[in-house]
Parts: sequence; C-alpha cells; structure tokens
Amino acid sequence: MSNPSYGTKPRVVVIGAGITGALVAWRLQRSGWQVTVLEAAHVGAGSSSRTAAGIRQQFSTAETVVGMRYSVGFYREFCSLVGGERSPIVQNGYLFLHALEERWGAAQARVEMQRHFGLTDVVALENTELVKRFPWVDPHAVLGGTFCPSDGFLHPETVYNEAIAAARRLGAQVHVASPVLAAEQRGGRWSAVTTPTGRFEADLFIDCTNAFDAALQLRLGLTALPIAPLKRYLWFVQRSGSVFAGASGEAAFAAMPLVIAPSGAYCRPENTESLLCGWAHDAQPEPDFTMDDQDRIEPQFFHKGGTDTAGYETWASLAEVIPGVGEFAGITATTCGYYGTTPDHNPFLDRDPAVENVIRAAGFSGHGAMFGPFSALVVEAIANQGRPDSISVLEQDIPLSAFRIGRQLGHESMVI
Ligand SMILES: Cc1cc2nc3c(=O)[nH]c(=O)nc-3n(C[C@H](O)[C@H](O)[C@H](O)COP(=O)(O)OP(=O)(O)OC[C@H]3O[C@@H](n4cnc5c(N)ncnc54)[C@H](O)[C@@H]3O)c2cc1C
Repeated sequence: MSNPSYGTKPRVVVIGAGITGALVAWRLQRSGWQVTVLEAAHVGAGSSSRTAAGIRQQFSTAETVVGMRYSVGFYREFCSLVGGERSPIVQNGYLFLHALEERWGAAQARVEMQRHFGLTDVVALENTELVKRFPWVDPHAVLGGTFCPSDGFLHPETVYNEAIAAARRLGAQVHVASPVLAAEQRGGRWSAVTTPTGRFEADLFIDCTNAFDAALQLRLGLTALPIAPLKRYLWFVQRSGSVFAGASGEAAFAAMPLVIAPSGAYCRPENTESLLCGWAHDAQPEPDFTMDDQDRIEPQFFHKGGTDTAGYETWASLAEVIPGVGEFAGITATTCGYYGTTPDHNPFLDRDPAVENVIRAAGFSGHGAMFGPFSALVVEAIANQGRPDSISVLEQDIPLSAFRIGRQLGHESMVI
C-alpha cells in the first residue's frame, strides 16, 4: 500500500493509546495519514502506566541492539521532536550482574557483539573493577557485570501523554472510552471498525493493544498470535535514611543504575526515597483478563500479606548482591500489570496475513516501553511501503524478519 501525497489523506485507525499507539499515531499523522485513535478506556490505561519502564540497548541480537540505540536517541530528543518540557529518559545506565562462569562468559561475548553494532559505551567489568565503580555491590556475590551508562529508565506518562497531545496538534482525532468491538471485513480487508460511540472507516488499521490483543484477535477474526498476558508485579521499598556502603546520601542513590541481580530480580531508584523492584515470577496466561484485573493483586504477591510473599523474596534476592538494600525500611506498595509475552520475547510488527490492511504491533513482552520509538518507526515503514524486508536505522540495514508473524519462534535469553 502506498501513501499518496496528493488528494485526500489516507485514513488510519490506531487501536489502543499506550506508548505504542501514541507514538504510532504521532508518527503516522506527521507522515501524511489522517489518524483516528480509538482507546477503550483512557490514554495510558494499559501496561504503559504500570511499567518499570527500563530501557536498555544491551540485547543479544543485532536488530534489537540497533533498534534500542534508535529508541534511546529518540527519547533523548523527545522534547524537540514530539514536545513537552520534561525529558522522558533518565540515563542512569543498566548493570547486569553475573555469578555463574558460563553466564559471565556469555555476557562478555555479548558485549563484543553489542560494541560491534555501535553500542560503544557498554563495558564488561571484572569483579574488582566493578566494585570500585559500584561500591554497594557485594564483591563475594558476583563474578562481574556488564554496564551501559546510556541505558536507564523512562517516565512513561510523559511519553504517552505528550505523544497523544502532539498527534492531536497535528490533526489526529483521539476517542477515549471507545473500545473496538467489531470489524467489517470484505475480501481480506477491513473497511470499518465499530465502538459503542460510532463506526470508523479507514484504509489501514493498527492494532496497538499488546496484552489485550489476546482477546481482541478472537473477537475481531484476526490471525491468532501467541501472545500470553502474564501478570507482573512491582514493589516499592522505602529507603528511610539508609544509604549504600560507599555511597553518600540521596544523590548517589538517585544516580543508581537499573540493576539486574544474577537471580533475575531487578531494581532501580523510583525517586530519592524509594527503590522500585521487580522479578518475573511464574505466572499462568490470562487471555480473558479485564481492565480491572490489571490492578488485582493476588495474596501471595501483596506485601501486606507477610514476609513470605513474593515482594519480600524479591527484596531479599536483591540484598544478596546489594547488601545495603537489605537495610532499607520496608515495602510500602505493590503494583501490577500485564506483559503481552511471545515465545521469543520479540514483538510482532507486521501485516496480518489474514487481513492485509491490519498491522499488528503487539506482544512486547517486557520491552514495550523501550521499543516504543522503534516500533513506531517500523509501523510507519510498513504503512508506507507495503511489507519491507528491512529498514534503515542509524545508517544500518535492519532486517524485519525477527518481528514477522510466522517467524520461527526461538528464545531470547536476556529477559526481565
Ligand atoms: C510490571 C511491569 C514491568 C515492566 N517493565 C518494563 C520495562 O522495564 N521496560 C519496558 O520497555 N517495558 C516494560 N514493561 C512492558 C511495557 O510496559 C509494555 O510492553 C508496554 O507498556 C506496552 O505498551 P503498549 O502501548 O503496546 O500497550 P498498553 O500500554 O497495554 O496499551 C494498550 C492499550 O490498548 C487499549 N485497548 C485494549 N483493548 C482495546 C480495544 N478493544 N479497543 C481500543 N483500545 C483497546 C488499552 O486500554 C490500552 O490503553 C513492563 C510491564 C509491566 C506490567
């Protein structure tokens, strides 16, 4: 499908207004489409307001390293590109800690690959060097770590609110409280979708519902994609005056990178007083989850349920490598939301094989906040060029095969 610059603008409906939908809407409106956003509840009603919002370029495949380098650059330029006054990115870095020889060896090899693909500031730090730089890490608990100072975390509400506002300024229509309930299909194409508030015709439709996609695809007759909605929790641990060994006070705490312990538990400063912690505990897929289920906390995960709940287990696991965290005062809050998880933890960014004018941008697993700018770039290329095999990102030709529907589904190894 082409996007002619003459005559009436081609129309596109974007379904869902999280980070993905908001950035896609802004990007497509800017590139000549007439965008209508249909959001079931309100802007940011899904995982985008419940996320740890980490952003890293330390990945194990070339396309994701380059893609996330693009995302980091985009978020750094966000205010001038999109709008707003507050940068959405905090570049405190990402520190992956390793305690097993085999994993540490593989991590060092990954750093070589990442540097080859332009991530020049990532380093592999042996134990001694590591604790010199991060004196709050227990030297007896780790062999080493990989650190990239330009990684970090996002203010997700800045991303989706500013992107939607910018899309509106450019002329996009945004309808909240407008769940898409049905689609009119003719000859392998959609002609319109309906919500309780109206019927919306378009030339192209973009599904940006991520974890909600599992329910949407059934309802709307789309190709069934393996996207499992998995509940994921976050806990907030109060510092209350405690500081790390070797670090002095608030500023040092606020500058802490996002740290991933050898166990997979992770943490980062939420503000000068509290630490956000998470861990991908075992979970059963919940394909029929509702909006309200997003905030339903199961007893074994709720910090008020006692010290044998998952939040305390996560806190204790982090304290094994960062002893100072063990001195913190206590967990003050539990929040949760859903990952839309795929078998290889890569999203689907592709046209639906059954409905030619529907693009699926879903299945972001634990990565949708960081993927946002790259996802929108790929969706724009698909919208304007048909179904390109690759796109040019930071002067590199990036194959899109890793994001195709129907790809061989393997396993990505660095998942949080
Ligand atoms: C605890 C937790 C930690 C996370 N940590 C990270 C992290 O560190 N880094 C990272 O990058 N990612 C992380 N993620 C994942 C990330 O938050 C998501 O991948 C990302 O927010 C997905 O954004 P999205 O816009 O694609 O989907 P969402 O934000 O879920 O938006 C989908 C939207 O679609 C709407 N919708 C649903 N059905 C319909 C319908 N029928 N019609 C119209 N609208 C509909 C919903 O209301 C919602 O607003 C985490 C997620 C969780 C839960």
